[in-house]
Amino acid sequence: MSGDLVALRDGIRSGSRSALSAVNGYLTAIDASNPSLNAFHEVFADAAREAASQVDGARKSGRLLGRLAGVPIAVKDNIATRLGHTTCSSRILENYRSPFDATAIERLAAEGAIIIGKTNLDEFAMGSSCERCAWGAVRNPWDPTRVPGGSSGGSAAAVGASLCSAALGSDTGGSIRQPASLCGIVGFKPTYGRISRYGLVAFGSSLDQIGPLTRSVRDAALLYEVMAGDDANDSTCASREVEAISDTIDHAPRAPRVGLPRQYRTGNSAAVDAALERAVDLLKGMGAKIVDIDLPMTDVGISTYYVIAPAEASSNLARFDGIRYGHRAMGGDLFELYARSRAEGFGAEVQRRIMLGTYVLSAGYYDAYYRRALQVRRVIKQEFDLAFAACDVILGPTSPTAAFPIGGVTDPLAMYMCDVYTVNTNIAGICGISLPAGLDYSSGSPLPVGVQLQAQAFAEPTLLRIAYALERELGPLGAAPPTLTTAA
Ligand code: GLN
Repeated sequence: MSGDLVALRDGIRSGSRSALSAVNGYLTAIDASNPSLNAFHEVFADAAREAASQVDGARKSGRLLGRLAGVPIAVKDNIATRLGHTTCSSRILENYRSPFDATAIERLAAEGAIIIGKTNLDEFAMGSSCERCAWGAVRNPWDPTRVPGGSSGGSAAAVGASLCSAALGSDTGGSIRQPASLCGIVGFKPTYGRISRYGLVAFGSSLDQIGPLTRSVRDAALLYEVMAGDDANDSTCASREVEAISDTIDHAPRAPRVGLPRQYRTGNSAAVDAALERAVDLLKGMGAKIVDIDLPMTDVGISTYYVIAPAEASSNLARFDGIRYGHRAMGGDLFELYARSRAEGFGAEVQRRIMLGTYVLSAGYYDAYYRRALQVRRVIKQEFDLAFAACDVILGPTSPTAAFPIGGVTDPLAMYMCDVYTVNTNIAGICGISLPAGLDYSSGSPLPVGVQLQAQAFAEPTLLRIAYALERELGPLGAAPPTLTTAA
């Protein structure tokens, strides 16, 4: 695929491309497109040029280059970087600068990656459209009147519009995969605990996971491989070894068993159903065995998620109190300082989640809502375990529709339904990847739609290999976003 990360990395290594010219190409593209897309909050032009020159210098003097030397990567603005700000797209953190880099950032940097800027998101990663950002909505590079998806919509728009080689996102209920699907790129959520969350501003701690948004499965595998693995700073991080996968990505099982849940085929747009059918046919052609499976709890995922995630968020966001971080409203007594700082600092959706979370955790309702949701969570997990006894991966849509118009979904409950196919991956703690699979022409101009593959916890090698094989069969999308100005 044009402009993918591995190709750029190999070019820089061999000397056929310079890191500085790649960075300059992306910076030019950002200058041209970002004013309309609003994908980046902050761009580190000087630091990126400086880092690129160092990589080019190191290559010329024959020094060993890291596995990501010279490739520009954008970072969702809820992941801590010492460079610039870490705002979570919230007024409450408007001027916040992190004193440290997230572990994922440290690992990318140790392999020579260049952090080119911070990308926009729905405030504190709560949303599916990137309209709930403190400083304006993000626009979809395929059609600027439409949303890019969310909450990692800035990262998805930046990769979709070729403003960087790849980007990092976070996925609590679908926030990497859904925007990837709406922007025509690859979005990969690894197993819970696979990549350290140290430095990721916590939303739903039992659900959150960092992952890559890329233009190819191979790029996603490489970034995963670099970032994954145990971390003393995150006690939820898995200690098991990380398999080298990017170099053996073409070793897909010869006859993979692909589960197709009955519940994933209702309520989708015609283009999403068509993309799914095409993926099924291609997989059959590759020798896969399609297995009909049942995931009856699919529908219950959203209500379960909207108890557990707000409960955890209400606790995690208690630290933003006007004393320790960010925005402080002056005047009155201490209680008023807390209340006013939070009322002024947090947007409407964040306040809604805090209230919902506080409610389901309160003494009178804990058993009826929170405990019940944890019980349902266990059943959802068991349902996946049963399904994975019959198949290696589960195929389905990523999102029921292509990108919708900005302002087109105003009911919060309708917005929550965008994640009907993605939340259960997080609830069960398994892994999932979205691949570009087709175009929806129903609005006139082409809009991408994705398909999702899910696999059992820690089955990333199987997931990525099957995804790579399917990606090759699917081929490129057959159209490009009109805002694409360069493929540096
Ligand atoms: N869209 C979901 C929400 O609003 C998921 C967000 C996420 O994965 N960070 O909570």
